[in-house]
Amino acid sequence: MISPETIALVRERTDILAIISEAVPSLKRHGRSWSGLCPFHKEKTPSFHVNPDRGFFHCFGCKESGSAIDFLIRHDGYTFPEAVRALAERAGITVEETKGSSAFGEVDRQKKAREDLYAVNQLAATFFEEQLRTHEHRGYAIEELTRRALTPGTNPRIDQVLQAFRIGYAPSGWDGLATFLRAQGVSPVAAETVGLLVPRSSGSGYYDRFRHRLMFAVVDAQGRVVAFSGRVLRDLPGTDSRDGDKGPPPKYINSPESPIYTKGNMLFGLHQARHAIRQKEEAVLVEGNFDVVSLHAHGIDHVVAPLGTAFTEDQAKLVKRFAKDVVFLFDGDAAGRKAVRLSRDPIRAAGIGARVVELPTGMDPDELVRTRGEKAMVDLLASAKGMLEALIESALDESFNQADFREQQARIQYIIKLIAEEDDPMARAMAKSYADMIAGRLDVVRRGDRGAFAALEQQVRRGLFAADVERRRRANQAPPKDPEVHEEIRSMNVSPATNGTRSRIAPRPKGSPERTAIVGLLIEWPVLLNDPDVSELLALLEGRSVTVVTALRRALRAHGTSDVSENALDHEAFLENLEPNERAFAAKHLANPSTDSVKDAKGYLLDHANKLKRLLLSQEAAQITRETYRAQGDWDAERELAREASERLRAKHGLKT
Ligand code: ZN
Repeated sequence: MISPETIALVRERTDILAIISEAVPSLKRHGRSWSGLCPFHKEKTPSFHVNPDRGFFHCFGCKESGSAIDFLIRHDGYTFPEAVRALAERAGITVEETKGSSAFGEVDRQKKAREDLYAVNQLAATFFEEQLRTHEHRGYAIEELTRRALTPGTNPRIDQVLQAFRIGYAPSGWDGLATFLRAQGVSPVAAETVGLLVPRSSGSGYYDRFRHRLMFAVVDAQGRVVAFSGRVLRDLPGTDSRDGDKGPPPKYINSPESPIYTKGNMLFGLHQARHAIRQKEEAVLVEGNFDVVSLHAHGIDHVVAPLGTAFTEDQAKLVKRFAKDVVFLFDGDAAGRKAVRLSRDPIRAAGIGARVVELPTGMDPDELVRTRGEKAMVDLLASAKGMLEALIESALDESFNQADFREQQARIQYIIKLIAEEDDPMARAMAKSYADMIAGRLDVVRRGDRGAFAALEQQVRRGLFAADVERRRRANQAPPKDPEVHEEIRSMNVSPATNGTRSRIAPRPKGSPERTAIVGLLIEWPVLLNDPDVSELLALLEGRSVTVVTALRRALRAHGTSDVSENALDHEAFLENLEPNERAFAAKHLANPSTDSVKDAKGYLLDHANKLKRLLLSQEAAQITRETYRAQGDWDAERELAREASERLRAKHGLKT
């Protein structure tokens, strides 16, 4: 664990402008803040703002916002500790670790050990790349690349892509890599830990795991080589790679798990595709490594592959760091469809959107882009269907008619379950139309067995009805959360139900714009909270604006200082306690303040407060007048109300002068 002191020091010393301008070269100064083209979404006019004084960035377009640490996490795929360490290193800060359960120094030792493992993989990647240029059997690897129209040296773009993916050749023989690593002084134990070398079962020594294979380096989001994937090549003359009665060798061999590689939580190509994924706001998932490389070479560069596993929740979460949607570009065969079906739960668990494209039968993604061009692939991707729709269609495909009664029944149950579980009302509405499609399919059955048809038809009707009831029940239990699409300003207007006469007479409080403006100025200059002229006005706030100001005050206290200077605000702590639309509102004011000095801000704040007071007073006066009618017959009450009303009006005039 990194000590809180180190984190605080990193926050204080980090120049957010320096960090962000590396990724956003278009940043230009405008008053107190800087703006440029947002790296998180596609845009032509700048809506991305950085405020170096506050150490904060915010995009008015896509609403991404946060500190320099957040930027590294969201833009470059760092984890929180990694981002803190990277910034500490830049700022020359020694990272202090809090003592965990392990002895002091243990953390350092583990970190060092992991760094050694990355270094071994890095060396091996260089070695494989070198073999692709020089080894006598490199032709076999080139032959495979040529089959995919990726021949090295034929086109600068292809060379660039091969280099970016660190494509190499693991030489034939048993100890090419082992010998190389020994010469480099690398411990064979480290190489064994990452699965590059395997200890010999008899005697001592190690042999290479990857032999005579085309090598793909698996790189994590930060560009470190964590594993390898090796594709089988045509046998060398006089050798037979078939393993006795076990049949042909596996098409791909992947590195085993190690302290730096866990199966199912890495995506092949993510590092190379991350910027494109963010720009296009979606990631395309293909089945094989080769598809990724080939599509990149043909200009489709937001593509990743799951490295031989079914798409996992961890992988879905990894994608989510960069985009909210994933598009499955899988074969239209049974295996491809099954893979899509199995990915539904992980996708839902990770909370990302998913669409599905089926490739023409018998065609690879790279074959399609090679034979029909980039445009054909772009068009195909644009035709992606929602996952629900795709799953229902594949359950009702041609094989449905051939299936027996039991199988048909199982598929119909499955479809009903899919519709019942769907939360997106749009998708559900569309899925409902499939009732007709099911009925259409059943028509075929009708010709054969009337009884079976009647039973199935009834089952569909009942099932869909039950699904609807179930969905409504769930909806009542957990009402949908406030959608973020609401204008952030609007959220500031909502006041909790006020009690008594006021809520009856004035259901919507007036003065909301003034309250919103006051809260905005306080966010820009929290120091005003300690100004006696201002603090007495805070009583004018109500509803959510009180909540926001309370969160603001807490974030100042949490910072542990009584000297409330402009920079003493803990942004993360503050924003964490707000609802999404309030967070967006607050982030805007933090990143791009409307005022240049605390003096100006105080002036505006007092103006708004006075306007608010006048509004409230006239509102109350009107209310009292109305109450008077109700008090008819009660002379004491009416006299009292009249006195109050005239007092309010006097106070209002007093304010005006
Ligand atoms: Zn943006």
